[in-house]
Amino acid sequence: MTTGFFYHKAFLKHDMGAGHPERPERLTAVMDFLQKQKAFNEDTLRLVSPRAATLAELERVHPKDYIDFIRTASDRESRFDADTRASKGSYNAAILAAGAGLKAWESINTGEIDNAFALVRPPGHHASENQARGFCLFSNVAVVARHITATVPDSRVLILDIDAHHGNGTQEILYEDPKTLYVGFHQHPRTLYPGYSGYVDELGEGPGRGYNVNFPLPPGASDASFLHALKTLFPPLAQQFQPTSILVSAGYDAHFRDYLTNLMISATGFFEISQLIMETAENTCNGKVIMFLEGGYDLQGLSESIYNTLIPMTGHGKAIHEKPPKEDPRVSQYVAKLLTEIKTILKPWWQIP
Ligand SMILES: [Zn+2]
Repeated sequence: MTTGFFYHKAFLKHDMGAGHPERPERLTAVMDFLQKQKAFNEDTLRLVSPRAATLAELERVHPKDYIDFIRTASDRESRFDADTRASKGSYNAAILAAGAGLKAWESINTGEIDNAFALVRPPGHHASENQARGFCLFSNVAVVARHITATVPDSRVLILDIDAHHGNGTQEILYEDPKTLYVGFHQHPRTLYPGYSGYVDELGEGPGRGYNVNFPLPPGASDASFLHALKTLFPPLAQQFQPTSILVSAGYDAHFRDYLTNLMISATGFFEISQLIMETAENTCNGKVIMFLEGGYDLQGLSESIYNTLIPMTGHGKAIHEKPPKEDPRVSQYVAKLLTEIKTILKPWWQIP
């Protein structure tokens, strides 16, 4: 299998200032690590340069005056919220980040690659239609989802968000859209940014009712609980929704060493998550998966977890083994109880065995 790995040096020119966790070194650490592992070659993991998203493509999600606002903010090096800023290179990086997903989609369609990983910055899942926030400027995943559903008749896009923070931007943008099913696994919003969203009763609205699924995990959840919840919900949702492609908000801040969150996933856990995603994708949409980097701030955890994610995608290599921390038994009890609850909540739309 050939995985397209989308990366551009322009992503490093988006700089939110000294000491900011969402820093250019995140990407250089991953690139250095993959190169050291000799992971790149034309047949299995092909390094590809992204293209920029066009205005018309961005406008499927973001109003034109918001796009202009981000461009000018970039020229002026402005601040959007307490921890989201723009530097001179931010606009260019942001249109390439969204464009990486678009080019990945095109390359999968022409058969040049089978699936893709977009190693991009800025991330996207907190950006709303008209608000830059939570380190995000444009909604990379929503731009690609809208592009697919607008250009391919009868297409359905499943978005799986495994970042430790709830993908509030993606959810808000696609909340009334039945052609996109958003499924988020994240740390409980009572204990983490964004705080106000990511609860089980947020199910979508209007025609999109039922097409939004959230599973909040308690702090301390490790591989066992995360995988148990994912295995219970994700494959049956995919089987019943029958997506034509799967987009993944691949955040790695759920890694146990990450200092921004309290989830406890190991690099081995990320290998198993990727395995489950790829198996489910093979069974539903010919393995058409595009993963987009979101968070992940511990450089070693990020690099090793991405390396492990790529193994089931390419079908090559050997996963790095890392032992997950031990879970408090109360975590698995909470997860089991919430799984029972969510099955009942989802019953009008989805049958979860
Ligand atoms: Zn995050």
